[in-house]
Amino acid sequence: MEGWGHNATSGCVLCGRNKASYRCQDCFTGRLLCQLCMLKHHQEDLLHVIKVFHLFQPCLLRNSRDMSYQVWTTTHFQKTSLSALRLQFQLGHPHNTPCVFQQQAHKYFVVIHNNGFHSVNLYYCNCQPGYAIHQQLLDNAWFLSTPLEPRTCGTFAVLHHFHTLNLQVNTTSYDLYTVLTLLTVRATPKPASSMAHSTVTRALALWAHT
Ligand SMILES: [Zn+2]
Ligand SMILES: [Zn+2]
Ligand SMILES: [Zn+2]
Repeated sequence: MEGWGHNATSGCVLCGRNKASYRCQDCFTGRLLCQLCMLKHHQEDLLHVIKVFHLFQPCLLRNSRDMSYQVWTTTHFQKTSLSALRLQFQLGHPHNTPCVFQQQAHKYFVVIHNNGFHSVNLYYCNCQPGYAIHQQLLDNAWFLSTPLEPRTCGTFAVLHHFHTLNLQVNTTSYDLYTVLTLLTVRATPKPASSMAHSTVTRALALWAHT
């Protein structure tokens, strides 16, 4: 299910030069790409879940019955993130082009989306007078739960998704928080803190009244 597929012997299908070790869980094709091509094609899709292929070095295992040795290797895909691959995202400018007066957001800015919590390297625009931070986030379809020192927000998509679930099957904010935490395990360098639950709850409550 998560094997190399057609990429078993070839390199990156886009550049044809580098080793292809990265796969996006949310892109339609799921093809294996090199790190550079993965970053290039996710400049505006920073909430996609990325996996990297790992090959552990072989080691010797001793068979207890006949005392023989076996060479054991293992390979697997492990979750990483676009922020861990150094993707930076610029608000207020199209196509993720950097602002000349860019202002870095909180170091551990987290975006809550349908596929989990995402730690993002976020930059605000500072070249357009009066373009407030909360407006920049809203223009990106991200809903802020606190106006001061923003460090967490939810996408319109996840808030709409939860609001519908809440109305139809009484899904609680804790249920959502639990599911998103399970989806996030090992995907974010700094896991969602306990504060995230109250943030999720507050964002959902505000969304329900907008
Ligand atoms: Zn490539
Ligand atoms: Zn993707
Ligand atoms: Zn700017």
